[in-house]
Order: sequence, then C-alpha cells, then structure tokens
Amino acid sequence: MILIDGKKIAAELREELKQEVLELKAKHNKVPGLTVILIGDMAPSQIYVRNKEKSANEVGLKSEIIKYPETVEEKTILDKIEELNKDDTVSGILVQLPLPKHIDKQKVIETIVPSKDVDGFHPMNVGNLSAGYESSVPCTPLGCYLLIKKIEPNLSGKKAVMVGRSNLNGKPMAQLLLKENCTVTITHSRTKDLKAECLEADIIVAAVGIPELVKGDWVKKDAIVIDVGINKTDKGIVGDVAFDEVSKVAKALTPVPGGVGPMTIACLLKNTIECFKRSR
Ligand code: NAD
Repeated sequence: MILIDGKKIAAELREELKQEVLELKAKHNKVPGLTVILIGDMAPSQIYVRNKEKSANEVGLKSEIIKYPETVEEKTILDKIEELNKDDTVSGILVQLPLPKHIDKQKVIETIVPSKDVDGFHPMNVGNLSAGYESSVPCTPLGCYLLIKKIEPNLSGKKAVMVGRSNLNGKPMAQLLLKENCTVTITHSRTKDLKAECLEADIIVAAVGIPELVKGDWVKKDAIVIDVGINKTDKGIVGDVAFDEVSKVAKALTPVPGGVGPMTIACLLKNTIECFKRSR
C-alpha cells in the first residue's frame, strides 16, 4: 500500500511555487499578494490563518492579515473587500470562515471580485469550474486532485465516488474528476447503500465529518482512497476512513493528519499565484 505523504508532496509543491514567485518577481518586479480577513478570535481560525501566513511568507508571497472583532459590522467588511478588490498589490482575498451569525456569508463571498477569489467560492468560479472553463478551484479538492494525479496520472474511465456533497469538497472534487474523464458518483447522507457505491470505486474521496465511516470491506482492492475528514475523538484526530482496515485493501491512502491538510494550504498559495498571473 502506498501511504500518500501529503506533507512531503506539499513541501515539494511549495518549493516549486517559491521558484515561480522568484521568476515572476524578476519579470514583473512585483510579487503576488494574499490578504486574509479574520473576524473574531475563534482558536481554530486563528491557527489556520497563522499557518497560511507562515506558508505564504515561506514561498515569498506578500501576505497580510486584517483582523476585526467578532462584533464588526457587515458593512465594514464589505467596504474593506471593495477596497481590496481595487488594490493592485492584492492578488488574492480570503475571508476566513466561519463568520459570526450577523454577517451574511454569501454576500461576503459575492463581494470578492472573482479574479481575486482564491477560495474558489464565488458563483462565477463555481460556474466556470462546472462548465470546464478556467477558474479558481477550492483549495482542499484541488489538493486532493493533485495527490490522486501523483498516484495515477491517467484517470480516464476510472470510477470515482465522492462521499459527501458539500460545496467546499464533494461537488468541486466531482467536477475536477469529471474533467479528467472519470465516471463520477456523488453520495451523501440520503444515499441508500453507501457501501455498495464505494465498492464500485477505483477512487474514493471521503469528506463527511464522521470518524472512520468508510470501512475496509467498503473498498475495492487497489482503490485510491483520499481522506479529507478531520475529526477530534478520544483517540485523537482521525479521518472519515477507518485507516487500519482500509490500508489492508487500498492501493494508496492518505493518512490523517499529514495527508490532505498540508495540501490545502499549499494550494491556497498556488491559487494566489494563478490569480496574479491571470491579472497580468
Ligand atoms: P459538510 O458538513 O459541509 O458536508 C458533509 C457532507 O457529508 C454532506 O454533503 C452530507 O450529505 C454528507 N454526509 C453526512 N452524513 C453522511 C453519511 N452518513 N453518509 C454519506 N454522506 C454523509 O462537511 P465539509 O465541509 O465537506 O467537511 C467534511 C470533513 O472534511 C470534515 O471533517 C472537515 O473537518 C474536513 N475538512 C478538511 C479539510 C482539510 O484541509 N483536510 C478541509 C475542509 C474540511
């Protein structure tokens, strides 16, 4: 079984991006810039944002975090986004989710100009992705896609099953694999026989949020299994895949932690660089 080392693959990707930033700097005398808006003081968000800034600095991007208290008015955030939309030194804008209840998430996402939407959440980018056009792609599915391609460069005709249909993971992941000519099934909480669906799959991507949902006897021999889940349990952080069981049948599997997680941040940096290049 191949243990897909997301930490190592993400470090290699960051190294490639670092070189690319140096080349862009030499060519344009400018580096891509990422601005993150952080509202409130939720600990996980603070940690994610700090990691994003650290990685952005490591590859040579210009990075800025703008912090607001939990009580900030929605209009203040929307005005700031409008200002950043017009700022030529800002290539990518990310508003860290979740947001406080009084701020409308959809309004915030739609205020970010699509060309700076590094999260790929704007309806314009969602539409472009589903139409197969150039677009920003949400960072986690993009990271999963790059991991799958490392294991199997030719995905044409493969049967891929998404477990979970979120806008963040399952749906964009399905679009990326469809573009690679996979036959894609999207399953969800109302799917009748999840085990039977998974047993058909050459590729399984699990993004559910239920600890160890995907069992060893749900997985076809030699399938590639990507585990997006991050679940806090008594035995520590586990994924949505029963690692010990599935590792006995799968061809390749991502660990949790150390699989998809590190790729998510590396892909955010990749998206920032892509936004910069498209704006030139
Ligand atoms: P979500 O809650 O938005 O969506 C979960 C999906 O799972 C839904 O579509 C739902 O229909 C489906 N589902 C629920 N119960 C099911 C069941 N019994 N059988 C089949 N499908 C079922 O979740 P999300 O935002 O996509 O996140 C999923 C997991 O991935 C979470 O654990 C989250 O922490 C993790 N995550 C990890 C990263 C990363 O970088 N590694 C990034 C984002 C999310």
